[in-house]
Amino acid sequence: MSIQINAAFDGGNIRLVAITGDRIDLEIAQDHQSDFFQWFYFRVAGAKGRKITYRIVNAGSSAYPFGWPGYKTRVSTDRIDWRMIETRYADGVLEFDWEGDSELVWFAYFAPYTMERHDALVAATALQPGVIHRQLGLSLDGRAIDCFSIGDGPKQVWLYARQHPGESMAEWWMEGALERLTDSGDPVTATLLAKATFHVVPNMNPDGTFRGHLRTNAAGVNLNREWHTPTAEQSPEVLCVRNAMDETGVAFAMDVHGDEAIPANFLAGFEGIPSWTDELGEKYYDFARRLAAHTPDFQVEKGYEKSSPGKANLSMSTNQVAERFGAVAMTLEMPFKDHDANADPEFGWSPERSKQLGHSCLEVLAEVIDTI
Ligand code: ZN
Repeated sequence: MSIQINAAFDGGNIRLVAITGDRIDLEIAQDHQSDFFQWFYFRVAGAKGRKITYRIVNAGSSAYPFGWPGYKTRVSTDRIDWRMIETRYADGVLEFDWEGDSELVWFAYFAPYTMERHDALVAATALQPGVIHRQLGLSLDGRAIDCFSIGDGPKQVWLYARQHPGESMAEWWMEGALERLTDSGDPVTATLLAKATFHVVPNMNPDGTFRGHLRTNAAGVNLNREWHTPTAEQSPEVLCVRNAMDETGVAFAMDVHGDEAIPANFLAGFEGIPSWTDELGEKYYDFARRLAAHTPDFQVEKGYEKSSPGKANLSMSTNQVAERFGAVAMTLEMPFKDHDANADPEFGWSPERSKQLGHSCLEVLAEVIDTI
């Protein structure tokens, strides 16, 4: 039986270049109307019992080539458990071997969070008591932008994820956060929902998710560069969420992402916005320090360079939301590699740990909600 490579499914992305004996050369497809690519997710049939070397030959020209050294490919034979396998990166080619006794095997950049799973999350969350569901708008391909409002406290908290659809850990985080926010018996949840109203958008970019994009929507637009001037033509996903924020105001916001290169969880703030004050900034730094003290899966040493005064990019949501609303706003980045300070050699950074970090962030938010 010949080997068959397939990515024609929800979230799939790969292109077959050539099969030469036991070597399979592949390419990651670019996001539609964009140069970005890095996300891959594909299935292999017909390779049972054979040791095959898979080579992603265009890895070196991907969006973040620094993401490949030290990275390990995720593999699954049941699409439930995703384990890391040894992966080599040299001369612009990402390479790994696999020999298994299963009929089928899947490989992905990170444990996928498909639109099918998203729809299941939306359905299950909408059934929980005390949850209000709103469809804020539609994506360019006509998919729903779903938002859940939970709680009735005066502080307005916005949590939103997956502007960059290839960062699937962001929606695993959301699954954990929604699980906690709908656990009515939990004292942390009770505190939060009495003091705040949560608005949760678990997936800002359903089109990119389904299409297997790394970073953009159906028009090749990076949604996290649209927040100063979102438009119905280019970025309706951002426009509808920002309009809903304008109606409620925002006291605290977290935008959830994944980072290709840095092997750690970290936050990025809003330094450099025109209306920066040390007082507002300190509320963000306080949250970050408390989170690091609260869980071994967070730290404050590694992260992005801070913008210098007045240099913040207001097209990015965290800066725009901090500037527009005076909010304590932040971008959470989780790794495609691992959180090296608390590493897991089998699974690396994983769905379970992403969900758990969602819980931890809410626990720390409950500590500081009175000061926000
Ligand atoms: Zn991102």
